[in-house]
Amino acid sequence: MAFNVNEIEGWKKRYPLLKDILELKEVTWLNPNARDMAQVEGLAVNRQDMENAEALWQRFAPFIAEAFPETAAQGGIIESPLKRVDGMKAQLNSQYGAEIEGVLYVKCDNDLPIAGSVKARGGIYEVLQHAEQMALAEGMIDASKDYSQFASERFRQFFSGYSLGVGSTGNLGLSIGIAGAKLGFQTTVYMSDDAKQWKKDLLRAKGATVRECSGDFSKAISEGREATKQDPTAYFVDDEKSRHLFLGYSTAAVRLKTQLQEQGIIVDREHPLFVYLPCGVGGAPGGIAFGLKQVYGDAVHCFFAEPTHSPAVLIGLLTGEKEKVCVQDFGIENRTEADGLAVGRPSSFASSISEQLVSGAYTLEDGELFKLLKLLSDSENMFIEPSAAAGFPGPQKILSTGYAAARGLNMANAVHVVWATGGSLVPQEEREHFYQKGTDGLQRTSR
Ligand SMILES: *Cc1c(COP(=O)(O)O)cnc(C)c1O
Repeated sequence: MAFNVNEIEGWKKRYPLLKDILELKEVTWLNPNARDMAQVEGLAVNRQDMENAEALWQRFAPFIAEAFPETAAQGGIIESPLKRVDGMKAQLNSQYGAEIEGVLYVKCDNDLPIAGSVKARGGIYEVLQHAEQMALAEGMIDASKDYSQFASERFRQFFSGYSLGVGSTGNLGLSIGIAGAKLGFQTTVYMSDDAKQWKKDLLRAKGATVRECSGDFSKAISEGREATKQDPTAYFVDDEKSRHLFLGYSTAAVRLKTQLQEQGIIVDREHPLFVYLPCGVGGAPGGIAFGLKQVYGDAVHCFFAEPTHSPAVLIGLLTGEKEKVCVQDFGIENRTEADGLAVGRPSSFASSISEQLVSGAYTLEDGELFKLLKLLSDSENMFIEPSAAAGFPGPQKILSTGYAAARGLNMANAVHVVWATGGSLVPQEEREHFYQKGTDGLQRTSR
């Protein structure tokens, strides 16, 4: 329910940062409720859950390698490279007029196989765990068997009697649609009206059904949830409260640890790790932050990045109201070109965990996303979608808050990881359009 003028004034009095947030200004917020790991309590998931999730990925690797040959070289493990980006660091230094101390890396989830975005981690995981539960219940499989059977006609035949539903602005639908259709499920994706046409076309080409919903992401979710409930054979992947999505995302931490070790990078008290995560409902960034906190404890510092027009998780955490409020309640319309982040209401599941673990959050304007996407393309020859660029201003935004100084962190030893969350499936024509917008934006600001 939208707040009236007096109520909004009341909120602003209690949380002064809200004034700038509601005026759609870029803000940076440090989380006063973040805790040392020794003090964290009552989380709905634990380290064992994350390790169990990683074990599920390992069981399914033979299936993934067979069903998605592009993953065969990695043995059916869906993972992306970690890339050191000195060229982009130089670009950011000149663009924002401040030196980034330490080294800058990009986690290239824009190149994740199968779904081309971070949603491959959560979405495919949830579909696989659901398929496993069904096959177990049917006595078709057990953990000692070879899971490549999931690619067989017998399994496809079995799953074709069941359906999957999901509400999505695009990328989650792609991951569920592609994985679900491959296993044989009847998959329906309920899409918000800001979802891109090419994403709908691609999903249909992969064999999923696309239902277009008027209204934003939350509307698409509730429509999908209701329709799926009517069908007793159906399972709904619920981005507003999914534990499975969250655990799928969390396993990124285990993989990142290996990659950092391979590059000879130490993370500890003297060598802090800073991670900047584009944030929609908060599931992907929350799950990754949760996993990293399990792996690195207080040595890792995670920050969320949202568009100024969709600061759902920021408002939820700042006010402590989490999923009980949405940006529209505060008169913000949730319109952004960062379609992966076009979310008005945070995930209840993820927010209740992130509120203790995330170090802070910041917002940025849409125009900035295009500029960053162009700078990354020029300096590193990497293409990412607008949403995926939101992490890049992180190092300098956080530097300006005095966060590191207040904690006595030695930033000369810092490792910054910007999580690039999507892009490889974006068609060439769209890429050129995004790049041009970035070029125009940079010319305007340099004049
Ligand atoms: C979904 C998405 C995110 C954020 O994930 P949430 O779980 O919604 O917070 C970030 N970037 C891209 C490209 C996405 O598709």
